[in-house]
Amino acid sequence: MNEKSSVGKLKGIGEKTVALFARVGVKTVGDLIRYYPRGYDIFDDPVPIGELEEGKTAAVTGAVFGRIQVSGNQRMQITTLHLKDLTGTLKVIWFRMPFLRATLSKGGPLTLRGRVVRKREGLVMEHPEIYYPAAKYEEKRHSMQPVYSLTSGLTNNAVVKAVKQALECVSGMQDILPLELEEQYGFVPYAQAVQTMHFPLTKEGFVQARERFVFEEFLVFILTLRRMKHSESRAANQFHLPDHPAITDFLKRLPYRLTGAQEKVWNEIRSDMQGSSVMSRLVQGDVGSGKTVVAFLALLLAGLNGCQGAMMAPTEVLARQHFENISGMLKKYSIPLKASLLTGSMTAAQKRKVYESIEDGSSSIIIGTHALIQEKVKYRDLALVVTDEQHRFGVRQREALAEKGRTPHILVMSATPIPRTLAIILYGDLDISVIDEMPKNRLPIKNCVVDTGYRETAYRFIKKQVTEGRQCYVICPMVEESERMEAENVMDYSAMLSEEMGDQIRVGCLHGRMKQQEKDAVMEAFGRNEIQILVSTTVVEVGIDVPNATVILIENAERFGLAQLHQLRGRVGRGKYQSYCIFMSPSRSKETKERLEILNRSNDGFFIAGEDLRLRGPGDLFGIRQSGILDFRLADVFQDAKLLQAASAAADKILKDDPLLALPGHEGLKNCIDEKMQQIMLETTL
Ligand code: ADP
Ligand code: MG
Repeated sequence: MNEKSSVGKLKGIGEKTVALFARVGVKTVGDLIRYYPRGYDIFDDPVPIGELEEGKTAAVTGAVFGRIQVSGNQRMQITTLHLKDLTGTLKVIWFRMPFLRATLSKGGPLTLRGRVVRKREGLVMEHPEIYYPAAKYEEKRHSMQPVYSLTSGLTNNAVVKAVKQALECVSGMQDILPLELEEQYGFVPYAQAVQTMHFPLTKEGFVQARERFVFEEFLVFILTLRRMKHSESRAANQFHLPDHPAITDFLKRLPYRLTGAQEKVWNEIRSDMQGSSVMSRLVQGDVGSGKTVVAFLALLLAGLNGCQGAMMAPTEVLARQHFENISGMLKKYSIPLKASLLTGSMTAAQKRKVYESIEDGSSSIIIGTHALIQEKVKYRDLALVVTDEQHRFGVRQREALAEKGRTPHILVMSATPIPRTLAIILYGDLDISVIDEMPKNRLPIKNCVVDTGYRETAYRFIKKQVTEGRQCYVICPMVEESERMEAENVMDYSAMLSEEMGDQIRVGCLHGRMKQQEKDAVMEAFGRNEIQILVSTTVVEVGIDVPNATVILIENAERFGLAQLHQLRGRVGRGKYQSYCIFMSPSRSKETKERLEILNRSNDGFFIAGEDLRLRGPGDLFGIRQSGILDFRLADVFQDAKLLQAASAAADKILKDDPLLALPGHEGLKNCIDEKMQQIMLETTL
């Protein structure tokens, strides 16, 4: 058995489990070894009942007080007991486990470990694990148990067992990180590091092991990027795109003036597009800073000069939103250009029509999803490609789109507030522009940080806003365990909220288990105000623009990264109405308070990202992983900024000494990058 063997070769893994593993992207033993836990369960000391905190998982030790009751119906039997220690009594419930009454009735202390929630009657522990007698908990105390991402049918235990077997063949595996770097940076040796990633003995040990793989991940990323850049160094500008009077006219007639920052960035783009070599530019601007109009100007410059411009969005909803916005502007300002929309869910006949208009050049501005880069799309003269919210795209899509025309200009729009020094490394092939000024007419969002006792008041406030014609988002509590539970959670929550809000108000829901088309349908209904309250997981995060939405309520705000909360908040405050963001959190910890306070005080994405980093510090792993920023398995651009910089320096040195990665000791790295490149090539020629 080796790294390339199928997971089916492991003992106790049959066809069914192989299929389940495939669903989470694990096919080989090597994949399994790299299938790091999403978190760890830490078995802390039991807490006195009187000191329990809402919203946290905790262990308590005590004796059963009174009778154990079983209630409910055949389908859903609920077992209830009261656990008592010196400091208080706690109500505990289990679902569908009526047999517990017999097992737990024997007396003597027991330890329960589970999540504590607040119900009408007070704090309740729901569905805890049972350690009976209490001494059983001692064995687990202080250990860290891996928690893996799962899919329905695949249990955590099954993954643990498989990983344990897989780790036995680690010694034969080829290592990626060259030994000289391991020594230079003092990283934990490979075999020990993988073992620790899955089964850490201490938090510190884990943090150290992780550093090795984060560094490795950055190094491979940077080297692949350099290789790609090398194979396609900046071409000459083949387009002649002089200024056009219709653009000046458009700017004059706009109901607002461009901000100084927008103007500066537009000038940078314009001189790139008119310069001697092709443009590759990243435009960074906080949510709501007005990136769309800048992209539109660039598209106009291409279109008005008889060429084409394409704009790619990460989802159909966003593509449609841009299309409507842009065709609206073309019409309103009588600009004689045609815009077309191309998305995956259009019928074959609709697509064929659009393909034709792209090929014969009657369409000048083409907006769509990744459907824009499919083989069937033949541009007549593509001069510009804009990608919106690029962090959802891989480098490869960008490259694929670039290959469609001769060598089009590339403009990447991003709302991710990455500090300039890091952006230069991560987007090494792009020039960077920053829109660092907000339009002046905005009413700043009013923020508040509240505990769950405020929920009723928040609901009343939401109801009032909806009655006045506005709309609201509710971001649902995150669920650690699985996507399936997250979906159930969102559905339960929206059913509950719908009841609370009454018949007049329509509540919709959105979660990651829905098909893209279902999500789009819900988003569009929300856009048309057929749904007034949208309950959602973070899938709503990027780019959605519903100016009529004025409230966002974020449940369990403590579980999100600050940058992510800032992006979520950006869904409101986009129109002329006063908007509100309610961060709700049951946590009373000082640290949580301090973090949320930063958002409460500031609406500036760069400032927030910086503060987040300062507070969390390197190695805060059990905290929240920022999501959505490039696709790293482990690494976090903000938190691991130092390692990113180190990896960048290491990459420079490697390429200087051994540009072909041909020297002994670099085989692992070379294979890994070759594989990545091959994958990129494969995916782009499909
Ligand atoms: P983002 O940068 O998040 O993509 P948008 O481009 O969607 O932001 O702009 C948000 C809103 O601000 C839009 O409704 C847009 O019309 C408006 N807007 C853009 N630029 C200005 C400006 N200079 N002054 C006033 N409003 C602006
Ligand atoms: Mg946008």
